[in-house]
Amino acid sequence: MPAKTSFSWDKARRRRFGVWRYRELLPINDDIEPVTMCEGGTPLIRVNRAVNGNVYVKFEGGNPTGSFKDRGMTVGVTIAKHLGVEGVVVASTGNTAASAAAYAARAGLKCVVVLPRGGVARGKLAQSLLHGAKIVEVDGVFDDALEEVFTEAVINGKRDLYPLNSYNPWRLEGQKTIAFEIVDELSEVPEAVVVPVGNAGNISAIWKGFKELYNYGLINKLPKMIGVQAEGAAPLVATWKTGSNALIEVEKPQTIASAIRIGKPVNWLKALNAVKESGGVFITVSDNEILEGVKDLARYEGIGVEPASAASLAGYRKAVEMGLIDRNGLAVLIATGHALKDPDTITKYFSY
Ligand SMILES: *Cc1c(COP(=O)(O)O)cnc(C)c1O
Repeated sequence: MPAKTSFSWDKARRRRFGVWRYRELLPINDDIEPVTMCEGGTPLIRVNRAVNGNVYVKFEGGNPTGSFKDRGMTVGVTIAKHLGVEGVVVASTGNTAASAAAYAARAGLKCVVVLPRGGVARGKLAQSLLHGAKIVEVDGVFDDALEEVFTEAVINGKRDLYPLNSYNPWRLEGQKTIAFEIVDELSEVPEAVVVPVGNAGNISAIWKGFKELYNYGLINKLPKMIGVQAEGAAPLVATWKTGSNALIEVEKPQTIASAIRIGKPVNWLKALNAVKESGGVFITVSDNEILEGVKDLARYEGIGVEPASAASLAGYRKAVEMGLIDRNGLAVLIATGHALKDPDTITKYFSY
């Protein structure tokens, strides 16, 4: 006698995977064939030991190239291919480059990545090399690399190279699916969503996702968006504190978390509006708090993240301590990238 089960192949097969499962909520014509590797659909993991409370980690390290950038890149590269360009170009602290390189390879497009010399974690650099991207290094930080891409691609009008930085709206369209998955999996809207913030695209995108669900009547409340920056790279926190809408740039951003080492975030105004509208807050965490977060996720929960990702755990702890969010409220921490991205930081700070 076979055991009884409610499993049905039919039901299982009806469920498409990841980002493209929400295709009806993406502004893309049905006849466009996606360039996809089944990105998204990442684990939402209940954490118990690293923090008390009702807390989940959305582990974006589970994406094909190991960061949430894949959600945006599948949409961005799909559009690039549809436009018939020769290739794509990005400035990056590393993960955007790794993702662009992989998706461009899959689409049969050239890929040029512009990186801050010496400022990219080793795993990410290796991925760009692996997928055959052309690497251009500039002296300075990410902001200088972005300037370079902007001047080349937009001002000098290199139309054969499609720019895929996070001012590209298609990437944000893909990244908003993080919000859809959270609601889909939890069947409720968390009180707070905590996001590490660099160029501020992701926090803007996730808010856009929640707002759309709300506007379509699919949810009836919205979460507080908590944006977390590293102390040495916190232009949005500085701006937030002034209460005005004039960005306070950070000339030489410094933090161990290279993915959020950004002084002039492109999406600063969108992010500022998102956090304000949500009733949330921008806060800073120190590099030590970030490393503490990396360690606790790894040793108490088994979740390996790169430093920038642990800013969300560090930020959650701080926000609770400061009374900014309810200690018992449902919270989701976005763990943006995988530990293997940055092996050097791990071996340096967690040596035996
Ligand atoms: C890109 C990235 C961030 C920052 O996201 P923004 O959209 O630039 O704010 C944070 N963590 C990791 C691992 C990233 O790759």
